[in-house]
This record gives sequence, C-alpha cells and structure tokens, in this order.
Amino acid sequence: MKNIDWKHLPFQYSKTDYNVRSYFQDGKWGELEVSQSEYVEIHMASTCLHYGQEIFEGLKAYKGKDEKIRLFRVDENAKRMRRSAKGILMPDIPEDLFIEAVHKAVTLNKEYIPPYGTGATLYIRPLYIGVGAEVGVKPTKKALFLIFVTPVGPYFRDGFNPVDIMICRDYDRAAPLGTGTYKVGGNYAASLASLQAAHDNGFATTLYLDAREKKYIDEAGPANFFGIKGNTYVTPESTSILPSITNMSLMQIAKDMGMKVERRKIPIEELEEFSEVGACGTAAVITPIRKIVDPDKNKFYNYTTDNKPGPVSTKLYNTITAIQFGDEPDKHNWITMID
Ligand SMILES: *Cc1c(COP(=O)(O)O)cnc(C)c1O
Repeated sequence: MKNIDWKHLPFQYSKTDYNVRSYFQDGKWGELEVSQSEYVEIHMASTCLHYGQEIFEGLKAYKGKDEKIRLFRVDENAKRMRRSAKGILMPDIPEDLFIEAVHKAVTLNKEYIPPYGTGATLYIRPLYIGVGAEVGVKPTKKALFLIFVTPVGPYFRDGFNPVDIMICRDYDRAAPLGTGTYKVGGNYAASLASLQAAHDNGFATTLYLDAREKKYIDEAGPANFFGIKGNTYVTPESTSILPSITNMSLMQIAKDMGMKVERRKIPIEELEEFSEVGACGTAAVITPIRKIVDPDKNKFYNYTTDNKPGPVSTKLYNTITAIQFGDEPDKHNWITMID
C-alpha cells in the first residue's frame, strides 16, 4: 500500500504506476497493452483533436471492510461507452474488452486503492479517442482505448452537504437531438462557460433547462437531477440527458424502499412542490441541493432550513454507498469483485 494521506485526498489526478491501452486498426482490436507512460503519442491530424471524436467513462473501485475490491455496475459503463461510440461513429468497442481493461488497470494499481473508511476510492477513467489522420470531416478508422486510474477523495471537500445552484437561461449544455445523451468531451466543452458563470455568482453549478422551450428541468451541471415529492422519486425525461448509472441505481433503491418512481418531464414550476432535490453521478454520488435560484425570474426554491440533507436523500445515499463498499447485500447483482 502506498504512503498516501488517504483522509485528505483531493478529487484530482495523481499519478499511478500503470495504464492499459488497446488500438483499433485495420478493422480489428489489438492486444491490451500495459503502459507506464502518462502520455499518448497521436497523429496531429487525429479526429479526436479536430472533430471531437472523444468519449470517456467514469467509475470507481471500492475497498470493503473485508479488504475485497469491488466494482459497481461496470457492465453498464461498458454498454454506455459502446452506445456513445455508436452515437459519434467511433468503431464498435466490445464490452468484454472494456471490462477486462478495467480489471487489469485496477489490479495493476492495487496499492493505490484507498482503505475502507476513508471515504476515498480509486477513480477509473476509460478514454476512447479517434486517432486516424483525417482532414476532411469523416469518422476515424483508427482509435485508441485507454484506461487510467487515480485515487480520489470525496468530490466535495465537505462531503455530503447541501449546495446552492442556479438556473441559467443564457447557455445550453446540449441540443435536444444532439450529443447530450452520449458521454463525449464536446458536451463538457459546451458546459464550461455556464459552469464558470455559476461559480462566479457563488453557486456550485448550473441547472440546465431543456434547450428547445426552456420550460423543463434537464441536468444539474454534469449530473442528473432528481426531486422527492411525497413518496415519489421524480427524475427528468429528456433526449439531451446523459443516462446516469447512479440515477438508474437510485431509482431501483427508491423502489426497494417502497417509493414510487417517475421519469417524466419536470416543469420548472414543479420545483416548488419537491421536499428534497439533488444531483447524482459517480463522482459525488448524491449532491443534495439547498437552494435553487432563478435570477431571471427573481425566484428562490428552498429545500432545507437546517442546512442538512433531507431524510430521503440521506437514506438513498447511505444505501447506495453501503452497497458499493460491500456493507449491504448486493441483491441486484451490481457488484463485481476484482480477483
Ligand atoms: C457521467 C455523467 C453523469 C453521471 O453518470 P453516472 O453514470 O452516474 O456517473 C451525469 N451527467 C453527465 C453529463 C455525465 O457526463
């Protein structure tokens, strides 16, 4: 085990020993190679550099009380990368290759997996880029799939605490029939200016509205949105949302807790009717929202008076993290052990 201050790890890149790579060329996938370099050497005319053929994924490895290492729903990340590849015309990427590469990258860097009880995890970042040289706009014939890992602390320094977010009508993250539903870097480039605007105004992130009508809730920054209304978990239906695996799992956990689950359009006015709202994704798991500010309409939606996450969000958070760390039975077969 490496000598790292596990309890104070930031959510930041730090070097580990190995990454794994495989190239697609001449119509087939090559061997999974192990690399010690932090760099990639690619052609300057690569389609990822010019035309945005870039896809990524994000998942974590968790060390349990029993010292065993767990992956959470890695098959879903594999499927999603494949789906993203189809969406931006990258060569098909087999789910087996993805899963094997995750196992290999984690196993090779075992000493960097944070111990149980520190809240830290090993963040796994699969990357898939077009590296064929093209100057005309056309899909790549050559691609590089790479996975690196890095130990990370909790996404928010203060942990599971409510944040304030703002509605911002000046920007869209993704078009209704664009690439919002694929995990591609272009969506992130498109989101940076609005995130900056939110930060400049003292908010954690932006709440995006649907790009067409600006009537419905879309995503909460780079995370899915949910609201709790009575005994119902509500999350937006939209063609520009990235299908979050955390959200998918929270919907199942909510059902297991006896709640109703609705996936449908959420008009802005409905924000008034939720008792709790939150953002969810692998990095932060659940980010409870204290207040949503709508500066254009001079409106505030408040979700907590005591500055604490609501009871339902807390229960959802505790349940999903307990499953991830192996403290709760894995009744839906979400966990894969490493080794
Ligand atoms: C990755 C991502 C999420 C969260 O997805 P998870 O599978 O839960 O990590 C949500 N929104 C966007 C835009 C994302 O890129």
